[in-house]
Amino acid sequence: MPLKESEAIILRTFPLGEGDRLVSFLDRQVGRVRGVARGARLPKSRFGSTLEMLAYIRIWYFERETRELVRINQCELIESFMDVQKDYSSAVALALVSEITDSVLGEREAADAQFRLILLTARAIRSAGPSQVVLAYFSLWTARLGGWLGPLDRCSRCGKNLQLETSFHSSGFAEIHCADCRDDWATPISKEALSVGTTALSGTLDRLLKESPRPGPTKEILSYTLDVLERHIEKKLISRKTFENGESGIGEI
Ligand SMILES: [Zn+2]
Repeated sequence: MPLKESEAIILRTFPLGEGDRLVSFLDRQVGRVRGVARGARLPKSRFGSTLEMLAYIRIWYFERETRELVRINQCELIESFMDVQKDYSSAVALALVSEITDSVLGEREAADAQFRLILLTARAIRSAGPSQVVLAYFSLWTARLGGWLGPLDRCSRCGKNLQLETSFHSSGFAEIHCADCRDDWATPISKEALSVGTTALSGTLDRLLKESPRPGPTKEILSYTLDVLERHIEKKLISRKTFENGESGIGEI
């Protein structure tokens, strides 16, 4: 039973048995792994606050060849986002980030880019608040890294440049179409929303935040992207609804 040491981000945890926790974490080198933290729910647990949502930690765990679950031996906190979670809306945004990541990543598929994206996103929520812009950037890049997002500025059937055209898409499908190639049931998506998406995918989050895109189109591209993600994971994201319901008061930056 070799002991592994790695950097990791805690995605989600669930109570297990009397005092244990089942932990889903993103190992920076290995990808998403599930393991058991013995005694993590007992008072004076040695895990302390290292298993909080999106905690960035150093982790030591034992792999067992015949079992899917690893045994988590020790964790050390590198960066905590517990301070961010004190704000309810920010906590909901972080929950959406962790739920999306936990759902889209295959088990043990290396995902260093997603690892960096989570840290960037959580830090941005800490400094910029739980804005839709940050969540749109996170969701667009998650879909792009998953290979589920094509170009947002060309018709995916005929290749026509869509910057001057009305564009259409079918809910859950990433493909954007021109008026000639659209399916009958397709709905329009605004040029401004697609432009927010193109800007997000061609530059940094800082640049996108500086451009401060309008809330309407940002919400539109976020919603389009979350539909694409939900279609790929074949389920609804539980925290999406909470995030969208709270949206009237937040995300208007
Ligand atoms: Zn076309």
